[in-house]
Amino acid sequence: MIRTESLVKTYVLGGDTIRALDDVTLLIGDGEMVAVTGASGSGKSTLMNILGCLDQPDSGQYFLADEDVSRLQKDRLARIRNRRIGFVFQTYNLLPRMSALENVELPLLYAANREAKDRAEAALRTVGLADRMHHEPNQLSGGQRQRVAIARAIVTNPAVVLADEPTGNLDTHTSREIIDLFHSLNAGGRTIVMVTHEPDIAAHCQRQIRMRDGRIVED
Ligand code: ADP
Ligand code: MG
Repeated sequence: MIRTESLVKTYVLGGDTIRALDDVTLLIGDGEMVAVTGASGSGKSTLMNILGCLDQPDSGQYFLADEDVSRLQKDRLARIRNRRIGFVFQTYNLLPRMSALENVELPLLYAANREAKDRAEAALRTVGLADRMHHEPNQLSGGQRQRVAIARAIVTNPAVVLADEPTGNLDTHTSREIIDLFHSLNAGGRTIVMVTHEPDIAAHCQRQIRMRDGRIVED
């Protein structure tokens, strides 16, 4: 599902060159559930953003479902992201003036889908929010907001769901519920890659990848 060859991503900031990704080669099969761990600054988000087609590497290659997406133009990359990837962020990234339902419909509107509302409702039911569809984000708890974000990530029925510290802002109990939700999505056949700094969450994944200084040091 995901194959990278020698990904390199460098940032230049104030005369300093930072190798955020330093030769990352990775193979993730269809239906795997992978936890990515590592200290702050080790390159986890940089990797996730490239895997999620939100960013591109300086060099190296990235094949998503056998398609080389390493050098695509921005608009083609956005289309592939919309079709194949659901992305969940630590801080939910919901639009504030829109209801849960409207937030979840958004990815479908970009794809001009007439059944958007039905599918958004189904996605919200999947994440256990049938009774909160018309609430706006500030009327929801952190855990509920993250459920909305997960519904938005799965509404296009992507094969891959990527999550960058999805429980980073949540208490232990709520984190557990969100992780259970990712496990059930994985049981339904989706490939999941999730960044977490919590060892017990990582331990519940099939596979753990640990990063240090832009490299994979354990897999
Ligand atoms: P992590 O998610 O593991 O905390 P990141 O991927 O965010 O790590 O960052 C990896 C390294 O790249 C860090 O040293 C960080 O400071 C640097 N970095 C990340 N994004 C940028 C950017 N946009 N500009 C400059 N440096 C960046
Ligand atoms: Mg990060």
